Amino acid sequence: MDIKHSTGEWAIASVKGYLWFLGLNIIFCGWLVLRLFGGASLGFQTQNYTPALYVIFAFSLFNLVMTLKLGDRINEGLYQKCLPLIVFIFGLLWSIIFFNLLHDFNQPTMTLMILVMLLLPATITFYISWLLLALISLPILLVMIYCVMSPEVHFTLVQGIATAIILAVVMSARYILLEAYLRTQRSEYEKSLLIKKLVRLANYDTLTGLYNRHSLKEFFTQSTQNLEKTKNSLFLIVLDIDFFKQYNDIYGHVEGDKCLIQVSRCIEQSLRKASDAAFRFGGEEFVVLAVCDSMSNAVSIARRIQYALSSARIRHTGSSVSDRVTVSQGIAKWHPDMHLETLLEFADKSLYQAKREGRNRIVWDKNG
Ligand code: GH3
Ligand code: MG
Ligand code: MG
Repeated sequence: MDIKHSTGEWAIASVKGYLWFLGLNIIFCGWLVLRLFGGASLGFQTQNYTPALYVIFAFSLFNLVMTLKLGDRINEGLYQKCLPLIVFIFGLLWSIIFFNLLHDFNQPTMTLMILVMLLLPATITFYISWLLLALISLPILLVMIYCVMSPEVHFTLVQGIATAIILAVVMSARYILLEAYLRTQRSEYEKSLLIKKLVRLANYDTLTGLYNRHSLKEFFTQSTQNLEKTKNSLFLIVLDIDFFKQYNDIYGHVEGDKCLIQVSRCIEQSLRKASDAAFRFGGEEFVVLAVCDSMSNAVSIARRIQYALSSARIRHTGSSVSDRVTVSQGIAKWHPDMHLETLLEFADKSLYQAKREGRNRIVWDKNG
């Protein structure tokens, strides 16, 4: 299964983690600056790495304010596009500081300590993205390698190995975090698929794709509520395929199913408004709920269905009213406070009248 980060190629795993990372940057810089002011007594001279410290301090503060302002939106838009550059600047500035600490001040222990404290929040913040993690750690790593190789710097092989171990720990932590992240993503994805499937099963008919009987009640309630604001009324058309038992007997159940699907498409294509909906009520019976301003417009929908069906030319040699599949339709108009069951009953009465009068016809209450 292909899992994509919802946030793009490079992303920050957690806003809180990023705030933590920025906060620690500020604390380390503040601490180092304080040590510089304590300068001589601690054996520090002030030049060289001070500018990088001030830049990190200001840069972290700026990003902290931006993150507090943007929240989850740091993984969107311009800020997200600039993330590689931002992270690279952090890597570059820290590599300058580490170089100064090792080269100018001979402070390997402090360097390693800050390295651990920096890479820990960096891993937790950037583990989703190889790119971001590489952009922050590569410049630092290169400086460390240079310092191990350079005879001028008192950075021993053992300290170099300690650096390598720190990096290995960081990489394995990243692997574990990423695995857990992907597992959560996968389970979220599977859950969303399952919910979609359940919603489909609960609301739609699996054979025809039309809404099912269960959805009718919900649509009816929604439509009658919406009607209160308009002058329109609600009409219910109930449709039943003529001689469908014979159709099954002649062509078989599989062809019968195909016929039901074709009839459904004819009904669907005859609806013009978003407020109108088609349902498979059960077996070979369908219902249309339509919002119209008059009975004649509801009858037009029924006529369009009749026409679409005759154009579909579904052969039916077992029908005594036509050589094609036809439907009988009954229409009823909704009146305020009328329950769905009552509306269905009225429409059913008209449908049975249509059947009695010879099928392939539309019957409606002329006073409706
Ligand atoms: P009428 O013109 O009076 O409506 O006659 P009819 O034969 O259409 O009505 P009847 O109620 O006697 O038969 C309905 C048939 O619809 C019987 C049943 O096998 C068939 N049917 C119901 N549901 C399905 C289905 O999902 N698939 C198929 N292929 N047939 C179905
Ligand atoms: Mg029937
Ligand atoms: Mg029938």
